[in-house]
Amino acid sequence: MPETRGKLTEHRVLSDLTWLRVGGPADWLFQPADVEDLAAFLRDLPPEVPVFPMGVGSNLIVRDGGLRAVVIRMGRGFNYIEIEGDRVRAGAAALDAHVARKAAAAGLDLTFLRTIPGAIGGAVRMNAGCYGIYTADHFVEATAVTRAGEVVTLTAGDLNFRYRQTDLPEGWVIVEAVFAPPRGEAGALEARMAEQLARRDATQPSRERTAGSTFRNPAGFSSTGRADDVHDLKAWKVIDDAGMRGARIGGAQMSEKHSNFLINTGGATAQDLEALGEEVRKRVFQNSGIELHWEIMRVGEPAP
Ligand SMILES: Cc1cc2nc3c(=O)[nH]c(=O)nc-3n(C[C@H](O)[C@H](O)[C@H](O)COP(=O)(O)OP(=O)(O)OC[C@H]3O[C@@H](n4cnc5c(N)ncnc54)[C@H](O)[C@@H]3O)c2cc1C
Repeated sequence: MPETRGKLTEHRVLSDLTWLRVGGPADWLFQPADVEDLAAFLRDLPPEVPVFPMGVGSNLIVRDGGLRAVVIRMGRGFNYIEIEGDRVRAGAAALDAHVARKAAAAGLDLTFLRTIPGAIGGAVRMNAGCYGIYTADHFVEATAVTRAGEVVTLTAGDLNFRYRQTDLPEGWVIVEAVFAPPRGEAGALEARMAEQLARRDATQPSRERTAGSTFRNPAGFSSTGRADDVHDLKAWKVIDDAGMRGARIGGAQMSEKHSNFLINTGGATAQDLEALGEEVRKRVFQNSGIELHWEIMRVGEPAP
């Protein structure tokens, strides 16, 4: 491994770094000191070694066998939030909720980030969104370190934002993003965020170990096949219709409160969670012919 001013740990179990509290060891966990440290490390790391950037693990199932890669996790040195006139500049490790609150206090509306539990790097990579607003909507640019260790600026065009997806090349690490949000009155923005939090708590298992929505909402043509006959189904509804609300495998359960949330009730393995998700996909397909697609990312290897 290259020399670094950051922290490098071999065989680091990842379960405590993910919201679902599952995941085997990474070959290496690297916590860079700053951008220069990260760039030098990636430049000197042999190109065949896989690199996996990780935020706060709120959209991940890391499998029980872990990741044959260097996992990069940013902490201090990457969690700043700066208000620059009408713009917000945030380090990749800044939590979405903190960015939303600091922006609101300055009269800038990034309220959609308030209830998303990830960090800014993950928000850009996933084009995180809520209440019809996406990261792409107020995005100006991001700074990333390429797998070869170059520091580059990425525009929205480079990232090609789509639903929960971008074209960020594998092994590239986002270190900072700049947003240009609309203006709003600080008090009104605070009130909106409080209302959004309350709405979340009322409808989602926000105090459980989850990774957000398990599957995308299926959209497509209804059985008539007519171009104007498009259904707009909710994943929770087709899961309910297939009788899978509350279903369990081992310590994994589809939430009773919101059936598109997969929960670690305590002691679940990644295998339990993934197997339950696959069982739900199978039952939904048998019941309605609809194919659900995972929204949670599943990475790494199964237990040997
Ligand atoms: C209770 C709950 C509610 C949720 N609600 C929402 C919601 O309303 N809307 C929504 O969009 N999502 C939601 N999510 C999912 C999740 O919070 C988002 O996808 C979030 O953006 C992921 O950020 P993260 O930092 O946790 O990334 P991680 O889960 O750690 O990683 C996700 C992906 O991003 C990549 N990544 C992370 N950081 C970087 C980086 N710095 N550079 C390059 N790639 C990186 C990882 O490699 C991985 O591919 C929810 C999750 C939970 C647990």
